[in-house]
Amino acid sequence: MNKQISTYTMWSTFLHCERRAYWRYIREMVPVRLDDALTFGSLIHECLASWYKDGSSESVLALIDDNYTERHYDATARKHWHYARAMMLAYMNRYVLDNWGVVAIEHEFDQPLKNPATGWGSHTFRLCGKIDLAVMVNDRAYVVEHKTAATIDAAYIEGLNLSLQADIYSNVAGDSPVGVIYNLLKKPAIRQFEANQRRKEPETDEAFQARLAEKLSEPDAFQRFTFLYDMNDRRRLQAELWELTNRWRRCTRSGMWLQDRQACFRFNKPCSYFKLCSSRDSEDVLNEFYEHKAAHSELTQEDTPHATT
Ligand code: SF4
Repeated sequence: MNKQISTYTMWSTFLHCERRAYWRYIREMVPVRLDDALTFGSLIHECLASWYKDGSSESVLALIDDNYTERHYDATARKHWHYARAMMLAYMNRYVLDNWGVVAIEHEFDQPLKNPATGWGSHTFRLCGKIDLAVMVNDRAYVVEHKTAATIDAAYIEGLNLSLQADIYSNVAGDSPVGVIYNLLKKPAIRQFEANQRRKEPETDEAFQARLAEKLSEPDAFQRFTFLYDMNDRRRLQAELWELTNRWRRCTRSGMWLQDRQACFRFNKPCSYFKLCSSRDSEDVLNEFYEHKAAHSELTQEDTPHATT
């Protein structure tokens, strides 16, 4: 029997709201309009992969230019082009002398999901994913996870420590101790000045890039946090994942995927399925605002994650 793929994203979605997991992984529906923050983050991931692959800043900048060809007439594309360009230039400048020994880039893994009581693999699920970067630093193995965020505050950093993602990614190292490094890139919050009553000319691209570069030279624009994992952490993770597989099977059997109404505005914005849930699952809303996209498309070529809009 073919075992189903499960990923960190799937389990995290399920933990946050069963109903959200149902829409994404059972019905395989996504909003027609992609979230700008997600698409921007995906582009930055691709830029970082390119940078760690060949160390060419020209390739990185060309990638950004190619992704935002409409920047000459589209204000949203221009804004994101500015941010991506300034962020990557500042990042490459700050970390040009990184002591990371790159082992693998965008490494995909596919592992059995084991019952902690028996050691046997699940008949239903396997555990898959893609690691942004694997590096060696001072003879210790690390998994690096890139994150782009508008705000990096104490709560955000505390949250990383308890992240299921880091737990799962640390698991790929087998029995060896491993560290997980969160490589955080803060998206600048400044805007390009437009012409108005007090300002005759709009700010030029060069002037805005210079202002962004100054902002991104601040220490907190890029931060790295490291967490270490050992066998105790792995055993705890196995038990947690096993319990999640049991809950998932219960939902599948009963067809009941409960709505967690506390999660609808979790990131200070509506969940991407809010339109659907608040319409009581209207077929009209489903057909108009959502489209089919295979589950786990981030692991396949099907994903086209960084469209501009
Ligand atoms: S809108 Fe709320 S209830 Fe519906 S899927 Fe999203 S988080 Fe769950």
